Amino acid sequence: MTILVQKFGGTSVADTRKICEAARKAIRAKQQGHQVVMVLSAMGKTTDHLIALAHEIMERPDSREMDMLMSSGEQVTVALMAIALKSLGEDAVSMTAAQLGIKTDNAFMRARIKSISTERMRKALDSGKIVIAAGFQGIDDEGNITTLGRGGSDTTAVALAAALGAHECEIYTDVDGVYTTDPRLLPEARKVERIAYDEMLELASLGAGVMHSRSIEFAKKFGVAIHVRSSFSDTTGSLILAEPESDCAPVSGVALAAKESRLTIVDVPDRPGNAVRIFSRMAEAKIAVDMIVQNVGGDGLADISFTVPAIDRPAAIEVLRLAAQEVGAVGVEYEDDVAKVSVVGLGMENQHGVARRMFHALSESGINIKMISTSEIKISALIEKAQAQEALRSLHREFQLERPLVAPKGKKGASVCSPRRKIAKQSPADVFAKHQSVSNLGMEDILIEEVSLDRTQSRITLAGMPDTPGIAATVFDRIAAEGVVVDMIVQSNGVDGVASFSFTVARDDLKKTLAVCEKLRKHLQCDVVTHNPTVAKLILRGTGLRSHTGLAYRMFRTLADGGINVSLIATSEVCVSVTVDDAQGAKGKKLLEAEFKAEIV
Ligand code: ASP
Ligand code: MG
Repeated sequence: MTILVQKFGGTSVADTRKICEAARKAIRAKQQGHQVVMVLSAMGKTTDHLIALAHEIMERPDSREMDMLMSSGEQVTVALMAIALKSLGEDAVSMTAAQLGIKTDNAFMRARIKSISTERMRKALDSGKIVIAAGFQGIDDEGNITTLGRGGSDTTAVALAAALGAHECEIYTDVDGVYTTDPRLLPEARKVERIAYDEMLELASLGAGVMHSRSIEFAKKFGVAIHVRSSFSDTTGSLILAEPESDCAPVSGVALAAKESRLTIVDVPDRPGNAVRIFSRMAEAKIAVDMIVQNVGGDGLADISFTVPAIDRPAAIEVLRLAAQEVGAVGVEYEDDVAKVSVVGLGMENQHGVARRMFHALSESGINIKMISTSEIKISALIEKAQAQEALRSLHREFQLERPLVAPKGKKGASVCSPRRKIAKQSPADVFAKHQSVSNLGMEDILIEEVSLDRTQSRITLAGMPDTPGIAATVFDRIAAEGVVVDMIVQSNGVDGVASFSFTVARDDLKKTLAVCEKLRKHLQCDVVTHNPTVAKLILRGTGLRSHTGLAYRMFRTLADGGINVSLIATSEVCVSVTVDDAQGAKGKKLLEAEFKAEIV
């Protein structure tokens, strides 16, 4: 018999009437032949209320006691659900994390799942019961109750689905699926039939999120099929799987992070270890940095820019001032009221011109780009906050995301697009077994898929360009007109009203590209064009890069300790890439493999 996990969020169990409705959904699934495990959140805004109560007493309550307090919300819901099921004549049993055997570490309020024992659940299922699991909670080695962080019951649901080898994990919520962008911001957003784990990870972290990022990491690692659907209707929602919706569409979604600030540390001596020092200071202050962009300057100096959530800016600037002194940088600048728009799609890995189309669309809407960073499946641009909505609309239109998908007009069954990077297919049960067999590896520990080395690229930098709309579009148009494919793109605009672009191209295309750049230099009044004919690109690909924030930092530190200087940096949820001197590429790869030995599976 197949196992189905059904998770109901707070709004879906907000009152007893809704609890009874959810109970009926479970009964229906059971009648259709599944063994059913329900995972529940606390009713409505219960968790918020519990937190507010503690804060009435003191500002920073003890975190062990907070977990004791917050976990009580879920205990109420599971008991009521069991009562509801029994009232409908169905046999059911509710269980807390301790009873379920969900073991976590002891990081209260943000615990990670280490292991799950399935014996008790299976016994209950085999005796015909519906199992009702309390979401969001776990238990540490000492028997303390822990919680997984706000929104954590998604993670409980997917983790149980992984451990049980469930056929699907249904996420019942107040939206009816995953959209190409936030429908509250853009009414023309379309509900997708299917979206890939990696795309969802990038979109979730960017604010288009319907789900807890860690749950998607879990699903990806264990191959759990997720179905996001509405608890108030029976319509099909959206599936989250390994494969994207379309083989052809370069972009699957557009996301907006509207409340950002940008910080720049100016004229950092370009020496190994300087970036590490800066980011370790940020990490110590527990400030999550995003969109890290390092641009090489002409004279052995680099500017490093990154974004932080706007509310973290005051703290971040203080930390950064200290770091600037340490590394001998000239100064620190910041800008508030900026927003990040990103296009995301697995399809862009093998299609050219996506970046160019994006820059074009923005330019056509008169939107100036302040910073660009690219990764394998995401391109992000930092813009003025006031233009965020317009940017979202213009990108959504450019990539025709409002249009329902039509089957490609190739031969029947044949794809008209070239094949993507192969997605390894393993059954969830195999992955789970493999995972359990690696000693000391928690279910949520980071997994590195590969460290790879690409020695086919050159780096070019255009420095001192005017900071006006349309510059990126012009540059990448001209280059594309020569048939050159651009890989990593990094743009950061200086505080002095100038912009610099760095990017990589295939070594064979270097000469051609430099010729175009020389023309652009004159045409656009750019100061200098510099290049490095042979750079090596080191790429770290994995699962959990998003929630294990220290990873990029570990990568930089490892390279710095090895005396390897990093020229360009690009980070995303699923990979971190840097360029280094070609001669150091192989050594860099070895060092990274050694550093991440325990996590490479
Ligand atoms: N009740 C918890 C929260 O509100 C967990 C969840 O709903 O996912 O964060
Ligand atoms: Mg939730």
